[in-house]
Amino acid sequence: MPEENCIFCRIANGEIPSAKVYEDENVMAFLDLAPVHAGHTLIVPKKHIKDALAFPAELASAVAAAVQKVARALVAATGAQGFNVLQNNGLAAGQTVFHIHWHIIPRFEGDGLEMWRQGSYLDASAMQEMAKKISLAVQK
Ligand SMILES: [Zn+2]
Repeated sequence: MPEENCIFCRIANGEIPSAKVYEDENVMAFLDLAPVHAGHTLIVPKKHIKDALAFPAELASAVAAAVQKVARALVAATGAQGFNVLQNNGLAAGQTVFHIHWHIIPRFEGDGLEMWRQGSYLDASAMQEMAKKISLAVQK
């Protein structure tokens, strides 16, 4: 069901115009209004799904296929040397529209975009402790 106030549902329904680059039965792709680089594209499922925790595995192959098609085309159209596929979950992670979406960002050698700062664990046991904590919390 589309959500009335969801901008991506309204774009997917055609209620709000977008710079569409691809569409099939399950997904739609359009240019991000505030691109990192020109060609920065968003891929959304047509169905309203909040985030990765709500995302049904049955749609994963449709999204993966769309990501490949769009990324290939975007690299060809922009001359990018690479691209990032990014998907944010939650405000703290930078999700601003709560309809799951994948960013396909064209990248160029030396473009200066830093995706994240890398850290480190205090020591090997701290790392093992964290792995244990997460593995115990994984629902099988
Ligand atoms: Zn939506």
